[in-house]
Amino acid sequence: MSPHATTDSEFTYELCVCRWAELAWPPTDNQPISDQSPDNQPTSDQSLDDQPISDQSPNDQPTSDQSPNDQPTDDTTHIVARQLGTQQRRWDTVVVECDPKALAARAAFGDDELDSDLLHVVRNAPPEWAWYRDALPDPDYPWRYVREAVHRAADRGIVETRTAGNRIEIRRVAPYPDWVDRLIAIENKPDLDASAADRLAEQLTHDVETGLADEVWLATAETGATVEPALLETLPVEAGVLTTNFTDGVDGAAASVAWHPTGLRPTHGESHRTARRLELAERAYGRGWRGYQATMRPDCRHFQLQRDGRLLGPWCAAKECRQSGAECSASCSAFEPEPPAWRTQGWPIEGGPGAGIRRLLARRADRNR
Ligand code: SF4
Repeated sequence: MSPHATTDSEFTYELCVCRWAELAWPPTDNQPISDQSPDNQPTSDQSLDDQPISDQSPNDQPTSDQSPNDQPTDDTTHIVARQLGTQQRRWDTVVVECDPKALAARAAFGDDELDSDLLHVVRNAPPEWAWYRDALPDPDYPWRYVREAVHRAADRGIVETRTAGNRIEIRRVAPYPDWVDRLIAIENKPDLDASAADRLAEQLTHDVETGLADEVWLATAETGATVEPALLETLPVEAGVLTTNFTDGVDGAAASVAWHPTGLRPTHGESHRTARRLELAERAYGRGWRGYQATMRPDCRHFQLQRDGRLLGPWCAAKECRQSGAECSASCSAFEPEPPAWRTQGWPIEGGPGAGIRRLLARRADRNR
């Protein structure tokens, strides 16, 4: 294995981008974003490094619709998830920018994500006892589903319930905090060619048009010749472009801005957008980007974790590569279960290496919340 994270598969690249985002979001270029004026934005005769789309003018760049408040500050923290989205669209990397105090307050509702039904209950649960039908807004679905969600919420300890006559009353355990500031979607494409650019253009245009995320980005690997503008001309101008270089590992300098995104506006109303974004943010909170331990085969004797700088990623000792999530599955022809002897006498980790790997990654995900 090379001393540094290879990016020869989209899966490995995705892990690198997620880890970089966890360590270094928001991205920077060679100057602070706040210092950038329209005059400092790329112009049509700048090099490809500076400007991915040859016919963009400074006026196309986000200026007036981005206030300083739109930019992350020291008062912002973030969590990162991978492979998250809606039924229509799944993003490779999602960054949720949050208020640190509000994020800490979110912990009162447990480590697991809250789905839309549970959010309906906890966001509207009153400080004093009340019949749940009086306390909660009318749902656009039958009340029996709300009652079921109330019971689930009570089972998880995120709302209190009691019975008064034949009525179920609820009371909140804590106010549900407004912890999500911005949702950022990143599409990862290490090797950008013409057909990939065409596909991405369609996907990113959909993202821009729906405006569910506050910003959309394309992350692509830096090549010696920089990003070809011809490939990027088809992309929507609102999408930002990150160029990455993970040759020396995953750290803050491994990615830089080639093109700044424009802040997006919702197309289905602000309240609809807020609810959908919160559902996505909740899934990111519950899952985290290290969720690959749940979908790969740490119980295979060849599965290892290998550190590559600040990236702890999967490694297949049989294939001697960073295996993808797709190939490290039940259908892998090289799969071999851990020998039973590995799981005895606590060697080397109680329950065997596979169980230890799952625990380790779960602990790291917990720490990231
Ligand atoms: S042999 Fe197959 S199942 Fe086992 S770690 Fe390698 S890729 Fe995964």
